[in-house]
Amino acid sequence: MNNHNINIASNFTHSFYAVTNDTATVGADIKTVTLSVGVMTTNGVAVVTDSRVEQDIQRTRERLAQVNVRVATNAVVYFDAPDSVATPFDSWNPIILGQVVTNTMTGLHFYVLCDEYGQPCVSTNWIDARVANANHAYAQSAMTFYRASITYIYNEPDWFHITSRNKFEEMCAYASNTGGLEVYCVSWLYGGAAGRHSNPNWKNGHPNMGLAITAKSGPYALAHEIGHACGLGDIFDTLLGDMLVSGYLIGNLNWSGGGGGTGYYPHNLKHVDLIRRLLMYYQQGYDSRDIPLGSVRAYEQVPLNPGLQPIKVGVDSMNRNPRH
Ligand SMILES: [Zn+2]
Repeated sequence: MNNHNINIASNFTHSFYAVTNDTATVGADIKTVTLSVGVMTTNGVAVVTDSRVEQDIQRTRERLAQVNVRVATNAVVYFDAPDSVATPFDSWNPIILGQVVTNTMTGLHFYVLCDEYGQPCVSTNWIDARVANANHAYAQSAMTFYRASITYIYNEPDWFHITSRNKFEEMCAYASNTGGLEVYCVSWLYGGAAGRHSNPNWKNGHPNMGLAITAKSGPYALAHEIGHACGLGDIFDTLLGDMLVSGYLIGNLNWSGGGGGTGYYPHNLKHVDLIRRLLMYYQQGYDSRDIPLGSVRAYEQVPLNPGLQPIKVGVDSMNRNPRH
């Protein structure tokens, strides 16, 4: 991964998904840039107008498009100018920092459990729709996934309907070292979970590594479990009350607190609502697919340390070449 100071860049879309809707082409040499934009303030007032920031980012995006670089994520950071700096309004350019990353590709090997009549619990179309959703989410981190294989597993009722962690790990030993990720599609998982991933502390090549999703899981459950394979953790929304987003809570790397519609995360957004947008939000039922640049603060589910902790849910904590 190369870090560049980029004085060319991209379009500042107000919608994250306007960017991630771009179609990723398998095998194409596409580079993606993640941007953070720094804008100085004096006495809390930005030294450039929001529209000026937008213009500069727009120009940057157009120039990047010419060299086949697209933009995945934007963040605007407002910070105080030193007192000694005399800043005639609008004389400062926004500081645009870009991180250029090369696209990665990972094969997904599917193992589909079948019932006692030999019926697979999910169809190929079901699998392909989940892979498409994963690609939609991971366009934010310049990663592409493809269906490398499907294998059907018969006569394993304890894997079709998994009642314990032990059975899950036993099933995950069915295939190992595939060169990609092994994804088991099952009918049911203990605890009623939509998906599970093996112990994140195991090293690549551990025979019991794998992930599973159930036939009833939501459209982004596969993408979420892949997040665990990349080293990301679950994030919870407990104990946060009505707290609003802030640079402290969402981290400077992710902060886009600009007024006038320039920011991705508006000032009046509740932190719990931001957390529910994240791909690594622990629960289903929300439109959770944001992958931010950096960690986001939250309380851990079992708070050994009761303070708000930075939770690894962002690109900077990811192994972008996950392998089981
Ligand atoms: Zn999870």
